[in-house]
Amino acid sequence: MKVLVIGSGGREHALVWKLRQSEKVKQIYCAPGNAGIRRQADCIDIAANDLQGLLAFALKEKIDLTVVGPEDPLTLGIVDLFEENGLRIFGPSKQAAELEGSKVFTKNFLKKYNIPSASYKVFTKRGAARKYIDKIGAPCVVKADGLAAGKGVIVAHTKAEAKKAVDLIMKDKAFGEAGNQVIIEEFLTGEEASFIAFTDGKTVLPLPSSQDHKAIFEGDRGPNTGGMGAYSPAPVVTRELEMRIMNEVMLPTIRGMEAEGRPYKGMLYAGMMINGDRMDVLEFNCRFGDPECQPLMMRLKSDLVEIFEAAIDERLEEVELEIDPRPAVCVVMASQGYPGKYVTGKPITGFVKASHMKNVMVFHAGTAIKNRRTVTAGGRVLGVTAIGQDIASAIKTAYEAVGVIHWDGCYYRRDIGYKALQRMRK
Ligand code: ATP
Repeated sequence: MKVLVIGSGGREHALVWKLRQSEKVKQIYCAPGNAGIRRQADCIDIAANDLQGLLAFALKEKIDLTVVGPEDPLTLGIVDLFEENGLRIFGPSKQAAELEGSKVFTKNFLKKYNIPSASYKVFTKRGAARKYIDKIGAPCVVKADGLAAGKGVIVAHTKAEAKKAVDLIMKDKAFGEAGNQVIIEEFLTGEEASFIAFTDGKTVLPLPSSQDHKAIFEGDRGPNTGGMGAYSPAPVVTRELEMRIMNEVMLPTIRGMEAEGRPYKGMLYAGMMINGDRMDVLEFNCRFGDPECQPLMMRLKSDLVEIFEAAIDERLEEVELEIDPRPAVCVVMASQGYPGKYVTGKPITGFVKASHMKNVMVFHAGTAIKNRRTVTAGGRVLGVTAIGQDIASAIKTAYEAVGVIHWDGCYYRRDIGYKALQRMRK
């Protein structure tokens, strides 16, 4: 069969790599892809949010299965569009993808279905939001309703900071229409974890837990990024918690979305905050996490095509996931300056050697080919992913591979997985 993967990051490289292992796949395309994906798929120069361009390509090439990496095409309605045109595609409809696309929708939904989450209030007027901040005080969290590429959530430690965040979102319109409504939310403490599952709208098939490292600097300091590394499993998610997340979050969400007339098919990603016995949903994403997808794909032994097909046909109950019990770790190598300004076009060395190391995969994110050389082309450049007997050896192998790779101005965190190590030692 012919498969099309949409996107250009480490997540999409991991998906392409995994999909290629399926005997069912004869040809694989990626739009637009990157320099690493090019080695495993035919990359086509169509942007991930060019829905009409993607549709025309899929119809022309008679694509049998389309897999969507990032959230933008999903919230724009790519699944509806492809299905209307008789194409098979894995992901939530536009209405279902509101779970990621609108934080106001999600907070109201969580409340209605009694799914644990921080207390909150929604505002459409700046003055009322500022008054409310005076009432509840700090710390609190200010969130723009719509998508803002990870920048629309501001954790405010003082009232002044919170009011400034409201002004940024509602007065300066820093995130455009996404800031028409604002949420002011209770500040939660604890440890975050990602819980990602396949669902066909009835059955929820969970992948093992994972955890990403959002902050740019070691010790989880500095501004948030798309993710500087990830590992799976996350020891903070005990077996008991896993069952609670399934019963108190994932299943009620799927049933609630059905009841709302927005049946949810695709990847369902719950970002959780865990603090002792308390667990809360921080956010939902309607796709795989990046970088979490990279260690998860290294651990998944089942045929990914079969899972996607079963989900589309609503027979996921027949599928049992086969998972490698060994932990996996992904260290993101980024351009110096990211998530702020950075330069690109730097030649990368050593990545081929690293990718030949045992138990290692080097997934590409921001890479391109220039004058026949692989060069940096984005903030996050590579996701160096390793699997090992235990979390410590997976971390060691990942950093050994990182040590082989170089470019001028390369930055990475040296403490990926440290929380897992701390927990294991306890
Ligand atoms: P965007 O919509 O801009 O893309 P996002 O979806 O990445 O943002 P969230 O995941 O909802 O935003 O929040 C980002 C981070 O903010 C979380 O990972 C968490 O660290 C922090 N955060 C969010 N809500 C809370 C809360 N109630 N208490 C404490 N921290 C929070």
